[in-house]
Amino acid sequence: MTLLRRHPMAFALLALVLLSALQPLPSLVDAATGEPPADADLVRPTAYTAFAPLSNILDALTFLGLGRARALLIEWALALAAWGAFRRGTLRQRLDRALFGPLALAALGGAALLLPRPVPRLVTADSSLTVIDYHAHTEASHDGRPGWTAEDLAAWHEAQGFAASYVTDHNVVFRRPIEHPIRLLPGVEWSVYREHILALGPVRPIDRAPYNRDARALGALFAELHHQGALGVASLPEYWLNGWDDVEGLVADSVDGFEIVNCAPKALAFSTALRGAVAQLAAAHDLLVVGASDNHGWGKVTCAWNLSSLSAHGYAANHVLARPIALAQGDWEPWTAAYTQPWLMLRSLSSSERSSWVTWILVILIYRAVPRRAGDPGGIGILARSLEMFKVRRPGA
Ligand SMILES: [Zn+2]
Repeated sequence: MTLLRRHPMAFALLALVLLSALQPLPSLVDAATGEPPADADLVRPTAYTAFAPLSNILDALTFLGLGRARALLIEWALALAAWGAFRRGTLRQRLDRALFGPLALAALGGAALLLPRPVPRLVTADSSLTVIDYHAHTEASHDGRPGWTAEDLAAWHEAQGFAASYVTDHNVVFRRPIEHPIRLLPGVEWSVYREHILALGPVRPIDRAPYNRDARALGALFAELHHQGALGVASLPEYWLNGWDDVEGLVADSVDGFEIVNCAPKALAFSTALRGAVAQLAAAHDLLVVGASDNHGWGKVTCAWNLSSLSAHGYAANHVLARPIALAQGDWEPWTAAYTQPWLMLRSLSSSERSSWVTWILVILIYRAVPRRAGDPGGIGILARSLEMFKVRRPGA
């Protein structure tokens, strides 16, 4: 009981980790149906599971829509600062603690974007299917990460189980054949009249001016792409945010498909209801539905994969698999992110990840509990304690 009173945070976290198992989310879902796929699974490397609390938190931070990312960071920074400031101690100690929490949070955000780490990998039992990405960028895009080469992109995809990816830089045609470690396929993302259209296949440069005038002029782009032997797929954030009133117009213009998942922060707020509506529209017209990492060189994990079948065409040719946390977070108001994102993360834990969380909580709890019984002063954690010990050892202190 004393242990429980002295370490309420550790026990609350332990309770949440265990309770969330009562409302589990699968590792992967088919984005069109919401059901777990029968022919694919997510494999987590041993190091990913061993450090599951860090791995899962970095993934959960990566899969935040823009509004939710902003809300989560502000709310957690304020809460951590307040927690540090109101704990007992000298003014200086309280100021240090108030700063430590928000700085640690900022470091986690930076780590989610940049830290090399083990990542989950999609594996499929069906060898007739290709694991493919339809939308990704290199440094050739104006908003691509500087130094992010096609080779970097290929390695990023390979680590996550992709066998191929189209390279779709903004208005820059990619035509460099790369076979290893995965196949990079030619493509481009054309910005034309408030839409971004992925051109996939043997693309050639075009003059965008004639297609840029209005929605009607844009429609002619699809005939040009088909003439080139390429497909034209509507990119999610633009058709949703700029052209939602005229999605059916794109169908009339002979668009070949729609993204229904896109992992870019501005596209992650897309809701399940809207995704269902687009999937229904695509099914009715036998059009492709695809998922897109829309990777720009930031972040280590994709929220979506595609299982593509050469023997089928149209709607049946591709299945979009996605991490449920990335899809479900789009159904929540941004301001709820501070608690809904951690809860979705805990619900998505596999049993081995959950065991890893429990182990880490217990190890840290024991580490913190033992010296306290010996009369060690309180602190905000291991770091604070090691600072205290450092202070004691300093001559004259
Ligand atoms: Zn893009």
